[in-house]
Amino acid sequence: MIDVLNPADGTVVGQAPAMTLSEVNSAIDRTCEAFPAWSRRLAKERSELLRGWFERIRDDKAAFAELMVKENGKCLAEAYGEIEYGLGFIEWYAEEAKRIYGDTIPSHAANAQVMVVKEPVGPTAAITPWNFPFMMITRKVATALAAGCTMTIKPSEETPLTAYKLLETAREAGIPEGVFEMVTGNPKEIGERFTSDTRIRKISFTGSTAVGRTLAGAAGQTLTRMTLELGGNAPFIVFDDADLEAAVEGAVGAKLRNSGQVCISPNRFYVHDAIHDRFVEALAERVSRIEVGEGMRDGFVVGPMINRTGLEKVSSLVESARLRGANIVIGGRAHGLGGLFYEPTIVTGLDDDAEMARTEIFGPVFAIYRFRTEAEVIERANASEYGLVAYGYTRDLGRSFRLSRAIEAGMVILNSGSVGTASVPFGGVKQSGYGREGSFYGIEEYVDVKYVLMSGLDR
Ligand code: ADP
Repeated sequence: MIDVLNPADGTVVGQAPAMTLSEVNSAIDRTCEAFPAWSRRLAKERSELLRGWFERIRDDKAAFAELMVKENGKCLAEAYGEIEYGLGFIEWYAEEAKRIYGDTIPSHAANAQVMVVKEPVGPTAAITPWNFPFMMITRKVATALAAGCTMTIKPSEETPLTAYKLLETAREAGIPEGVFEMVTGNPKEIGERFTSDTRIRKISFTGSTAVGRTLAGAAGQTLTRMTLELGGNAPFIVFDDADLEAAVEGAVGAKLRNSGQVCISPNRFYVHDAIHDRFVEALAERVSRIEVGEGMRDGFVVGPMINRTGLEKVSSLVESARLRGANIVIGGRAHGLGGLFYEPTIVTGLDDDAEMARTEIFGPVFAIYRFRTEAEVIERANASEYGLVAYGYTRDLGRSFRLSRAIEAGMVILNSGSVGTASVPFGGVKQSGYGREGSFYGIEEYVDVKYVLMSGLDR
């Protein structure tokens, strides 16, 4: 068994199975055996089963939220927020299951009909991270099942308890064995099984760019299609015409969510020279009022880093900035609570060669850079191998358009710090991966297009 630790105090909160390879194989076999029947179910039946799962979870929110606080460290308010977000995908795809339309194309031949139909790709697999232990799974499973695919999930071994509870509620809602399976154990071995089995027709992965590359490389040998949602290095640009108060609120919401351990967390704050000092002052005032601590309480608190490696990474990035002569406005060290807690931190006076300008910080650190012109900031924002999301605050409509066109990212968010919901396509470009999750675009990742020519219709 694998011990699951509470990052807030290091206690063991539960266990998950460390499956043997033959147990993993059995789960994959079951998804393959279940596929033909599942794919032939009426769309309405798949939809109703997903809707039933949605309702079963909705009746059990408190238990899910508590589990998420314990194994992930996020606060209760955020756990409930994630449940709403994650439920949104089940609800959305329960509806979308009934709307996977095809096309007819004017025939190129006499007495013939051209049809284009969309068919589920087959049995699928997914690997998910620990930062959104609930939503990452519902987003993938709901899409796959709606399309008529079956799916084996390998959740993160840091947060398998929420995952297994999702499986349990799915079974209670009548989603059959084989349609949705779960495996935990040795991530590398399981990844190798997924990528080498030609029966698995698609893999969806959310996690680090390094692991994404390994999986995509291996999947190249079996030509298994992939959706890759990888790392980011999001710029958050505040122009001198921005609503400063809104920009500060947006910055805090986007950055401190999940203690900054989010792929779409703003990693580089570019603030116009004319408002830089005012922005930093307002941000410092706002951030200094935010509490840090264990999450089982009312209201928002910044929780711990997920593990020792996460804490050490944040500490070392801040130390490296300090050594380069950056200014630590607030925070800048491990929190007095000890354990894995880190103080919300604001760093200014950075240049684009700073280590934290190029690395995903994954912690509660606001790294602030000055800029002077629009052209300059666009160039600096794009000077990253990543391209997941970019945020901009401006009240100028022309600038908003220019920004939305010039930024190299899968998502551009203007005058808001909030990105995700079920109805929009989530995903990146460049080294942030490819493919989209959410919205009707998400379904396209799980269907094959089949062209059918029905000729000889005059006979
Ligand atoms: P993070 O830094 O967010 O933990 P990872 O990419 O390490 O990102 O982890 C994301 C998911 O990928 C987790 O479920 C983890 O267990 C899994 N994972 C890690 N290494 C591998 C690997 N070599 N092959 C397949 N999956 C892996």
